[in-house]
Amino acid sequence: MAEKRDYYEILGVSRDASEAELKKAYRKLAVKYHPDQNPGDNGAVEKFKEISEAYEVLSDPQKKAQYDQFGHAAFSQGGAGSEFYGQGFDMGDLGDIFGSMFGFGGFGGSTRRNGPRRGNDINVNIQLSFEEAAFGCTKEISVSIYDECETCHGTGAKPGTYAETCPKCNGTGQERVVQQSLFGSVASVRTCSQCHGTGKIIKEPCGTCHGTGKVKKIKKYEVNIPKGIDNGQTIRLANKGEIGENGGGYGDLLVTVYVQADRIFKRKGFDVYCDVPITFVQASLGDEITIKTIDGEQKYTIKPGTQPETVVTLRGVGIPNLRNPKVRGNQIVTLKVKIPTDLSERQKELLRQFYNEAPNSQESKSTSEEKKSFSAKMKDLFKE
Ligand SMILES: [Zn+2]
Ligand SMILES: [Zn+2]
Repeated sequence: MAEKRDYYEILGVSRDASEAELKKAYRKLAVKYHPDQNPGDNGAVEKFKEISEAYEVLSDPQKKAQYDQFGHAAFSQGGAGSEFYGQGFDMGDLGDIFGSMFGFGGFGGSTRRNGPRRGNDINVNIQLSFEEAAFGCTKEISVSIYDECETCHGTGAKPGTYAETCPKCNGTGQERVVQQSLFGSVASVRTCSQCHGTGKIIKEPCGTCHGTGKVKKIKKYEVNIPKGIDNGQTIRLANKGEIGENGGGYGDLLVTVYVQADRIFKRKGFDVYCDVPITFVQASLGDEITIKTIDGEQKYTIKPGTQPETVVTLRGVGIPNLRNPKVRGNQIVTLKVKIPTDLSERQKELLRQFYNEAPNSQESKSTSEEKKSFSAKMKDLFKE
């Protein structure tokens, strides 16, 4: 990820801006970059996200204090979830912040029990192999979810009958109660005792759903796993969750992926790490080897005199970037020089010969022909 910008800079305010100034700055930018105003513009989405994040922190006195003291480091732990805005990313998430900011949607007002209520979000976990996460895949999942009862079409009433409007509350789900107290009569509003807040009376309940209007169903979904997804990240399938109440719409299906560890590769961000064993002869004399990558095998030439733990970077063969799969991470290879433990007598003798040869004096002692045959012999003897 690119270096994070300063939150004050993002909102274009000074560090001692008042709460009102922050809010004003945020509103102005949020309106300008709101995804609804900029359909199809990923730049705007990013910008909106950035603005929202900055405001979320700076508008919260506690978070603001942390940020002022530690900067972005204050919030850098984990962050897997917040990084992922791939497929299925739902603007509804931001709508919450947006809605409450602008006073839309009647947040915090008295909640009418029989008003529309959105269905529950459903969480499911799926396991992916290392390769599936790297290159993406399609997974079929089945979930047991409350959905509309087909017998009564969600009314809860037996087919041919109807749910009647509650006569006590006239369908509002609430009743006014006047109580006498020391200070005179006090009116209060409470949940209707006859319909328990639904606003409806079902005289003959549907036999399938027993009047609830919903039944558990096993639903199958194909989930497209985007390239580059990482362990712990979540894909949101909008409106594939549980059915709501009174036309409140469906919740979302949240699919969290767990990536199985690979025998060879480890992943950090979009880079792939692995160890490759080489013999000390290969390290000393150089050799051409093949290195496993997630794409297959790649040839690599070991330089003569390679030191143990030498780190080699194979560019562009790492994990595709989640946001831009054309860009890939690197593979970071540590060359592990193996020291043999089961030498034959002849090998030991050759090593002693090698050891007794004074360094940098080969030129005088042996011809290059002899050197070549010596190195060939070594290679033969210490083959893997
Ligand atoms: Zn039913
Ligand atoms: Zn009622």
